Amino acid sequence: MPQEQDRMETIVSLAKQRGFIFQSSELYGGMAGVYDLGPLGIELANNIKKQWWQKIVQERDDVYGLDSQILMASKIWEASGHVKSFVEPLTECKSCHKRFRADHLQEEGVTQCPECNGELTEPRQFNGMLQTHVGVTQEDSDSVYLRPETAQGIFVNFDNVQKAMRAKVPFGIAQIGKAFRNEITFRNFIFRVREFEQMELEFFVKPGTDDEWFAYWRTFCMDFLINDIGLKKEHLHFRDHEKAELCFYSKATTDIEFEYPFGVKELWGIANRQAYDLTQHSTYSGQKLEYLDPATGEKYIPFVIEPSVGVSRLMLAALLNAYTVIEGGRSMTTSANKDAEVVLKFHPSIAPVKAAIFPLSKKEPLTQIAHDICATLRKQWVIQYDESGSIGRRYRRQDEIGTPLCITVDFESVEDNKVTVRHRDTMEQERVAIDELKLYIQEKLQNFSS
Ligand code: ATP
Repeated sequence: MPQEQDRMETIVSLAKQRGFIFQSSELYGGMAGVYDLGPLGIELANNIKKQWWQKIVQERDDVYGLDSQILMASKIWEASGHVKSFVEPLTECKSCHKRFRADHLQEEGVTQCPECNGELTEPRQFNGMLQTHVGVTQEDSDSVYLRPETAQGIFVNFDNVQKAMRAKVPFGIAQIGKAFRNEITFRNFIFRVREFEQMELEFFVKPGTDDEWFAYWRTFCMDFLINDIGLKKEHLHFRDHEKAELCFYSKATTDIEFEYPFGVKELWGIANRQAYDLTQHSTYSGQKLEYLDPATGEKYIPFVIEPSVGVSRLMLAALLNAYTVIEGGRSMTTSANKDAEVVLKFHPSIAPVKAAIFPLSKKEPLTQIAHDICATLRKQWVIQYDESGSIGRRYRRQDEIGTPLCITVDFESVEDNKVTVRHRDTMEQERVAIDELKLYIQEKLQNFSS
């Protein structure tokens, strides 16, 4: 475990130093459970979201996109059950007054304060929704919740989307958006945060076909993590919830768990929520949320299968998955550089920077050629330009942020209009014509061999 703790600390520090993730409000001492994305973090997050959107929405004809808002009518959260049931058991240490989730401590078999061994209070229920006010003055302001999940925005738009798109069951509505939860403990970096993005799909099906669709999405999500995000299969596991563990409305729930350094934990939850949500919103709004099957004339409330994953939880898994230490360095480096080297072996689809361009000297015409290549490639990808330090050092900088390809413009390039492309994982080098670079990169990123 100490080794695992070290791995986690290294990731946290690398994430800060290389511009992936910063503590929110660090300048003012930091805000617990909130993180900012740095220049590389935002690229990584965008790439993850892009992959998800492409596979779940763009490449399918049975899923529609949506962007419902963070602020919604408070009644929605009564209907969904969040006002009453989105509660967690909170316990406090009588000595150091730190607060913890009683259920988490119980899972870990901890009975005394994990910080100071002090005595813990009896757990009390605590609602995890954050509140704010809308209205011009304090007096006429209404209290509203910041949504704790994006799903309800989908359910309340079920009828709008179905009618506008003339959607036929089975069909899904997908959205990516912010969610807020007043979490109590934050021990694991961006794993559990107060403000995060969710990628949620609500897939509506005919009752009776739900088991089949549940199985379909379970497999789909696992395949996505392996093939489109590049997580290693051996670090991912399905965990089917026991009957006793299921929420009352859920017929089946499976977590896809990832082996984080602090334990095997939920990354992606997939649930068969049956007709619960649409029924609740029908009751509370007084408007029937039924589907009329145009082929059979049958009317029914569809069941829903929900795969729901947090962007930051997936980012953390992707960072841990990519983190590779090469003891003693790689053969390319000079003898002075024999320390361990860090390579972030990101799947090229999510790598924040796709290629880096290095002119061998800081002088023209090499710099001009390199700038021109950069400008052309930037129309399609995020590219870095770097002219400082030895080529070996420049490779190392890019390896540390997971750039799949490095392109060197050397003195021969002026004569033969070719550049040297070096591959992050194999360290193979190839001479490629500048004219063909775009196609070459496209092909290499698509068929990346690690
Ligand atoms: P946990 O038990 O870990 O709190 P949960 O079961 O409450 O998670 P869901 O409500 O099912 O989580 O949310 C769906 C997904 O949203 C989770 O699988 C996770 O990826 C993500 N998620 C939930 N809460 C957080 C959080 N506080 N920070 C980051 N991601 C979160």
